[in-house]
Amino acid sequence: EEQNLFAEQKSFEVEQARKELELYAEQLQQSSQYKSEFLANMSHELRTPLNSLLILSQFLVENANGTLNTDEQEYARIINSSGNDLLSLINDILDLSKVEAGKLEIEIAAVNLTELPHVMERNFTPIAKQRNLQFRIIQHPGLPSLIFSDEQRLQQILKNLLSNAFKFTESGAVTLSIRKADPLEANIALPDASTANVIAFSVSDTGIGIPVNKRILIFEAFQQVDGKTERKYGGTGLGLSISREFANLLGGRIALESEEGKGSTFTLYIPCLHNPSSMEMVTMYAE
Ligand code: ADP
Repeated sequence: EEQNLFAEQKSFEVEQARKELELYAEQLQQSSQYKSEFLANMSHELRTPLNSLLILSQFLVENANGTLNTDEQEYARIINSSGNDLLSLINDILDLSKVEAGKLEIEIAAVNLTELPHVMERNFTPIAKQRNLQFRIIQHPGLPSLIFSDEQRLQQILKNLLSNAFKFTESGAVTLSIRKADPLEANIALPDASTANVIAFSVSDTGIGIPVNKRILIFEAFQQVDGKTERKYGGTGLGLSISREFANLLGGRIALESEEGKGSTFTLYIPCLHNPSSMEMVTMYAE
């Protein structure tokens, strides 16, 4: 009888502990939900006033009335570019919190592989000039002209990689090369034999390089090679973690090769899909 009582007591305790755990899990999920909602609302509230600031300062930068002196135009330019930095930070935080909450939707549509390099060229040629660096784009033969992917996310990844390449390079060149790659080299799961092709976008620079022991860490949010670098180069340490998450959502991955003092190459591999429905399978693989 005593033993029965003991067993009963035990199972009561176990049941009690299980209930507490359940409650705790529920609370955790609830607060994570609150966090995502808070970040989403906050980003929206911040973006609205920021947009007026950007539009109006842009108007001043263009000095349409011709009333600003050189100093004033320069102040307007600084307001505008700081505003733009703030906007991209807000967008990055929002994107990352959406990915974390599993709420980032990808939109698969035809992407014109011939046009994409021109977009990058238009975006980065002014930066290359300003930084006195060469900017090369190489499109290898044999590329399809259309693939199915999420163009906006793809562009975001490439822009992140390219802006890092320009930021961390003092002299020499930044190269974007696009080629067909071997699935074995890419090492990503492909949905079926009909899509057994991979596109590789490599961004190479002749910059400062990345120490071996930081090559995994820098893909984590807010991680930078060191505090000194952060002060010297600016940035938030979000670009690579967002890029990695996006690459994942597109069914691909990012590889890194680097030599300290010589330069780095970040390669984005994505499956070369010829019809939109294969993406569903890629997404299943990614999960
Ligand atoms: P951010 O550039 O805003 O710091 P990222 O997540 O894009 O954030 O990069 C994280 C860190 O990785 C950078 O701060 C830098 O230390 C390192 N890094 C990224 N790209 C390069 C590169 N091309 N060359 C050298 N270091 C790099």
